[in-house]
Amino acid sequence: MAKQIQVPNFYTTVENFFEKAAPYTGLDAGLLAQIRVCNSIYAIQFPVEIQNKVTGKMEVKVIEAYRVQHSHHRLPTKGGIRYSNNVDQHEVMALATLMSYKCAIVHVPFGGAKGGVKINPRDYTEEELERITRRYTYELVRRNFIGPSIDVPAPDYGTGGREMAWIYDTYRTLKENEIDAAGCVTGKPVAVYGIQGRTEATGRGVYYGLREACADEHDMKKVGLTTGMAGKTMIIQGMGNVGSFTGTISQEEGDVKVVGVGEYDGAIYLKSGINIEKLLKVRDETGSITNYPGATVYSKEDRNKILEMPCDILVPAALENQITTDNANKIKAKIIGEAANGPISSSAEEVLLKKGILIVPDVYLNAGGVTVSYFEWLKNLSHMRFGRMEKRFNQTSQERLLHAMEDLTGRKIDPELLRKVARGADEVDLVRSGLEETMSRSYGFIHEFQKKHNIDMRTAAFAYAIKLIGDDYQNLGIFP
Ligand code: NAD
Repeated sequence: MAKQIQVPNFYTTVENFFEKAAPYTGLDAGLLAQIRVCNSIYAIQFPVEIQNKVTGKMEVKVIEAYRVQHSHHRLPTKGGIRYSNNVDQHEVMALATLMSYKCAIVHVPFGGAKGGVKINPRDYTEEELERITRRYTYELVRRNFIGPSIDVPAPDYGTGGREMAWIYDTYRTLKENEIDAAGCVTGKPVAVYGIQGRTEATGRGVYYGLREACADEHDMKKVGLTTGMAGKTMIIQGMGNVGSFTGTISQEEGDVKVVGVGEYDGAIYLKSGINIEKLLKVRDETGSITNYPGATVYSKEDRNKILEMPCDILVPAALENQITTDNANKIKAKIIGEAANGPISSSAEEVLLKKGILIVPDVYLNAGGVTVSYFEWLKNLSHMRFGRMEKRFNQTSQERLLHAMEDLTGRKIDPELLRKVARGADEVDLVRSGLEETMSRSYGFIHEFQKKHNIDMRTAAFAYAIKLIGDDYQNLGIFP
């Protein structure tokens, strides 16, 4: 008889991490109990007309969906919307909880939330997905679960800019006089009040976070690696939004060698390196990553073997519960960078820590998305793109300074160099700079906390976040 695999409950995993971190916060039991729970849970079932693929007839399908606001200590609440067949209330609660800690860690002044619609987007046409998204948004508006000062969704697994544009359009149609309507959702296309650099933000943040981890000599020595990203081997599970940008940016800016990639329909391993740009092209043209030339291919059933292949950095960027006690002992990576939310169960984490693996946790590592979402929301509320006021002024001042240097030294600066040095910052430059600064600073805070208490990085990140939320509760006078 086949072995029955017990899938750990994601929310229980998050609760276990909370329990482990709580003693390091110094907060009393009542406050901890308040921080721990989800403040509002909205479960919806709504009907949508869908065409039967066999008969061609229109039929009504009842769709199950959720929006969970974990913490109202800061408003609006913020968190993505997931489209997946695995969505259930506990999954959305776990993801909403992580959002609160994530926002605290990167000092983004929001409470955490998350949404989920229980569908596999691959089973629906674009028109049907639009109908489902608009109906879901309508339900959120009806119950006051969306708005620039209430709750601001964003993309997550199975959704992207297209869905965010539908959400915005539905919202503004229902709230025609709301001047800040564009701030009701982030991750919108740039042409629909989005911000440059949001699509790549989570993957870029993952790269910056891993770069911080790899810069620490003591930590690298402990896992038997030298400092720096250059030359390190990486395996990525999931070539969606987060995984693909983590791959391309790590290769282009960090000189990392990606040796393995996993997808839902199979996985590939190639010791000499996989070019991610080329891999994405191969998938576009042939429909699957498994057609990448020269690679060892794993079938759909064996796709998770890729997690067990040798590499320096393993980046799970698909879904939760990918590393459990079933495979934790077989992991050969020295560092695991959690680009996905909850890829490691709490009991698997104990096994990995005993093996001496450095885990850079989701609540910190994938916070680049919400950081740039915060920038987008600020842009929407200010009704102006970043850099508009100061770009030309900075450029002119820098040109003046360089011309003064030319006069003083009697030497001409190469015009191309002058143009580069004196360039004023565009929106995308400011977004990247803000993201890099955030990931670097936040790493410093949690690493400091970790060293002070001599604990693992996830426990430090959780404790640091819970303490900040607790301080907010007390300082803002919300807690009796
Ligand atoms: P996505 O839908 O763009 O991509 C996910 C990819 O994973 C898809 O290509 C899918 O085919 C693949 N996949 C699914 N099951 C798989 C399996 N068993 N093995 C290998 N690959 C599999 O989703 P995303 O936005 O990239 O999100 C991925 C993870 O990152 C999720 O856990 C999400 O919560 C987290 N995250 C996303 C963002 C964001 O800004 N999009 C921000 C923070 C965290």
